[in-house]
Amino acid sequence: MSNWKRRPSHTVDIGGVLVGGDHPVVVQSMTNTDTADVEGTVRQVSELAGAGSELVRVTVNNDDAARAVPTIVERLRDAGLDVPIVGDFHYNGHLLLDRFPECARALAKYRINPGNVGTKRRDENFRKIVSIAVDNDKPVRIGVNWGSLDQDLLTELMDRNAGLPEPRDAGAVLRDAMVESAMRSAELAQETGLGEDRILLSAKVSDVTELVAVYRQLAPLSRYPLHLGLTEAGMGAKGIVATTAGLAPLLIEGIGDTIRVSLTPEPGGDRAEEVRVAQQILQSLGIRSFEPQVISCPGCGRTTSTFFQEMAQDIQAYLRKQMPHWRDRYPGVEELSVAVMGCVVNGPGESKHCDIGISLPGTFEEPKAPVYVDGEHFRTLKGEGLVEEFMGILEDYVERRYGSGDGAGETAGEPVGAPSA
Ligand code: SF4
Repeated sequence: MSNWKRRPSHTVDIGGVLVGGDHPVVVQSMTNTDTADVEGTVRQVSELAGAGSELVRVTVNNDDAARAVPTIVERLRDAGLDVPIVGDFHYNGHLLLDRFPECARALAKYRINPGNVGTKRRDENFRKIVSIAVDNDKPVRIGVNWGSLDQDLLTELMDRNAGLPEPRDAGAVLRDAMVESAMRSAELAQETGLGEDRILLSAKVSDVTELVAVYRQLAPLSRYPLHLGLTEAGMGAKGIVATTAGLAPLLIEGIGDTIRVSLTPEPGGDRAEEVRVAQQILQSLGIRSFEPQVISCPGCGRTTSTFFQEMAQDIQAYLRKQMPHWRDRYPGVEELSVAVMGCVVNGPGESKHCDIGISLPGTFEEPKAPVYVDGEHFRTLKGEGLVEEFMGILEDYVERRYGSGDGAGETAGEPVGAPSA
């Protein structure tokens, strides 16, 4: 994104992944397996990491889960996966981290919800977790959630608000309470000995406009990196759209150093979908690139066959399949854009904006498909082998533009070749 200005923040090292500062906005995810199920959790962490999750959080809710964590981390490392594992603690984190020191050591970060560390001994329990983090040199995310907000603090702020000559609306007080809870907890963590550069904050809500409002309020108050996410986003299109609507304005404003998309998977669905959605949000905003993008039109009455839809789908699937091999072989290929357009109305124009593009013939158009490379007309394809021919041109382009130059005869970044008639 041009002229993108990031909110200044400290860099926090989470098991070797750097979050905040000028480091890329990090994609993270969370498992939904029973953490005590070592096999199942290792499998899902591997899937999430394989999809590109740079941090993976697991719930640590009881003795069995805490006992399983070191084995999970060991199995992942044995399999060559170095993704940092973050522990999510509620209610009993101070007890589990104390009783299971190997779990405390194996985790790369602890997430504490200040609304869920007890009531009478809240500060004491919170300090206990932070002390263990200090002893183990681990960072902490102070993760406030409006579904489990510190009720004493909310009552305090509500009472104070009621005494004002012109009381503010309840939503504003709730936002104040979330921000205050995060900031007071961060202060307490620092008083307990945790470094400023070992703290991240989040303030999650499930309402899109409230999310934007609360992070805009929180962002200028510190230099702690911020973890963004719309909590309880929901399923399918609703969850994706709501998350995107909430995260996009903040990310455009430079707010947010790591993101998680909290999608509810379909029963038996793929948990890694949340990773792909998070990546797509960042790539659509021009903040990071993860895989080549296919730009295709929606189709209309000018192209009634499904041919171009199938072609767009095949190319996207092909590019995704190639990425694990291409990532190292063709540095920068994740920024490739490919247009697959249904007819010549917008086809050539859109193709010129992309690195490579094809406009298929519309219903009443001549059966020919102009191909554009680096903004220039390159060739016009015809006949049944059109898809295969275009794939060949695409592969050549990738090799010539992003390859080392061996065998291609051209250096990276140079045009593929002169356009032909
Ligand atoms: S490019 Fe052609 S087929 Fe695609 S939406 Fe536009 S007019 Fe319709």
